[in-house]
Amino acid sequence: MPELPEVETVKRVLEPQLSGRVITKVVCPRPEIIAHPHAEVFFKKVTGAKITGMGRRGKFILINLEQGATIIVHLRMTGQLVVTPATQVERKHTHIIFQLDNQEELRFIDPRRFGRLWLQEAGEEDNFSGISKLGPEPFAKQCNAAYLAQSMGHRQKAIKECLLDQSIIAGIGNIYADEILFAAQICPTTPAASLTKKDWQNLARIIPKILKIGIEADYMTKEEYLAAEGKWQHKMPVLKAYGHEHDPCPRCQTPLVRVVIAGRSSCYCPQCQHQK
Ligand SMILES: [Zn+2]
Repeated sequence: MPELPEVETVKRVLEPQLSGRVITKVVCPRPEIIAHPHAEVFFKKVTGAKITGMGRRGKFILINLEQGATIIVHLRMTGQLVVTPATQVERKHTHIIFQLDNQEELRFIDPRRFGRLWLQEAGEEDNFSGISKLGPEPFAKQCNAAYLAQSMGHRQKAIKECLLDQSIIAGIGNIYADEILFAAQICPTTPAASLTKKDWQNLARIIPKILKIGIEADYMTKEEYLAAEGKWQHKMPVLKAYGHEHDPCPRCQTPLVRVVIAGRSSCYCPQCQHQK
């Protein structure tokens, strides 16, 4: 599943291509992917609308429309958003096509079909997409050591599981949780309640830093993005812990080990990421 850095990359690549464009027609062979409002209403409301810009909240992509409405997209496991020339052959699993006023199209492709789209109208309260339940962005001032300690410090759950909780911090997934804990030298199975003030201070500093490195590593030009068919690519050299079971720890050379926490695979160094 794409995490904050990959979703941010999608937003950064697509925004210059979509800003100022008008949606002239919507073709949707699979209306079930529209979660709100009713698909017919969605098509009617977005047709003729001008795209003014894009945003991101956690792992959600926001496509802002003139007059304050927003198309919200969650890619979930395998969703891809691409802007292609209208003449380009449609790929399998293309579920919705937004035809634009410049002979290009915004297409949503999703083999696993978990991805969803919503339309939030101007002034409408969003109690449907899940965005209202998200915690602060990792780059927000609010996401400081005091906030982390207060929101997680009483929990007996593993710190890794707490970092994945989107209602505490928005945007961190399995990969970056491993990378953050590796950088902070905290064992992922450590109960959050065992962390010290210094650990929370470290985490508050490291969380935005690691995600920023991810965003920079994920950078693609629109040509690269189209060639990759909208698939985010993790640049493995950037990842130090995730997916590196048995590889030597980049810090101390001890082989990294893999554990399963809350059903998710986690890699860490048993030597320099101490259990508290
Ligand atoms: Zn190590």
